[in-house]
Amino acid sequence: MKTFVMKGIGKVGFMEKPAPVDPGPNGAIIRTTRALVCTSDTHTVGGAIGDRKDLTLGHEAVGIVHKVGSEVKVAKEGDRVAVNAITPCYKCENCLRGFTSQCTQMLGGWKFANIKDGVFAEYFHVNDAEANLALIPNTITDEAAVYTTDMMSTGFMGAEHANIPIGGTVAIFAQGPVGLMATAGARLLGAGLIIGVESMPNRQELAKHFGADIVVDFTQVDPVAEILQLTGGQGVDSAIEALGSQKTFEDCIKATRPGGTVSVIGYHGKGEYVMIPRLEWGVGMSDKTINTGLCPGGRERMQRLLRLIERGRVDPTRMTTHTFKFDEIEKAFNMMETKDDGIIKPLIVF
Ligand SMILES: [Zn+2]
Ligand SMILES: [Zn+2]
Repeated sequence: MKTFVMKGIGKVGFMEKPAPVDPGPNGAIIRTTRALVCTSDTHTVGGAIGDRKDLTLGHEAVGIVHKVGSEVKVAKEGDRVAVNAITPCYKCENCLRGFTSQCTQMLGGWKFANIKDGVFAEYFHVNDAEANLALIPNTITDEAAVYTTDMMSTGFMGAEHANIPIGGTVAIFAQGPVGLMATAGARLLGAGLIIGVESMPNRQELAKHFGADIVVDFTQVDPVAEILQLTGGQGVDSAIEALGSQKTFEDCIKATRPGGTVSVIGYHGKGEYVMIPRLEWGVGMSDKTINTGLCPGGRERMQRLLRLIERGRVDPTRMTTHTFKFDEIEKAFNMMETKDDGIIKPLIVF
């Protein structure tokens, strides 16, 4: 089968590999129908998690069940399924303690394109399928469903981890696809004032579509000063860091009121340390909370995300700016690196 792989740091390309044939008793093999390229795929190839040799890339995909193991009851051959980017085992100690994205070890729930072949292939294997396959309702397209695998799950987690009081104020730093879904999540959770921080016009427009009341352009004004001014000098109840840079992280600390929450969903893939601004952190005594997390997976959450699409609460397909066939994926991948042509998410059709 055809796969798109990381050949080494900074190098990608197509490669023929044997299709997976044995799902194992608890696994499943999925025939890929739609996938999305993620900015974190480009971070991986850039070396953020170290070198990988001929590892199939990609972690956002949906498809049709090709084979299931003897112990898998939740889906059968021919079913349309969504599989979260994170596929925990639900048996290890970290999973049993409720931290499924930290399955077996820190970030260990992240298996696709990290410790096993990913989804940019005609077929992919899913571990612990009983817990990780979610049936896609008939009324939902594959294109919409594929957004539940990472963008919606991660973005909504950003809002869930932000402890937004009903009617409260929230600022979301960066309105890329994850930031946009954090904005949508903040709206769904009942935020009273949603401030997006973003400079690109098409992202500003989408931020408003998904629920931002105000979008602050950080190239025109200091976003922290603007947020303080918009909240009567208090700062927001909750700030969501959706970029993964030192600047946006410290701006979140500075823009949050005492007792507020900073929720980090950016991928901090560079440098040795992330620095906390000491004074705005109340010299360590501000009652500010910093929460972190990695895209929660699992069938039960996926079903809830799919329900939000089914009921029209959110339409993530507004983020599809480009569509490519699988054999054109390298172009999509390169565009995600450079952010050419206003790209937000490229949909890959198999
Ligand atoms: Zn992703
Ligand atoms: Zn586990």
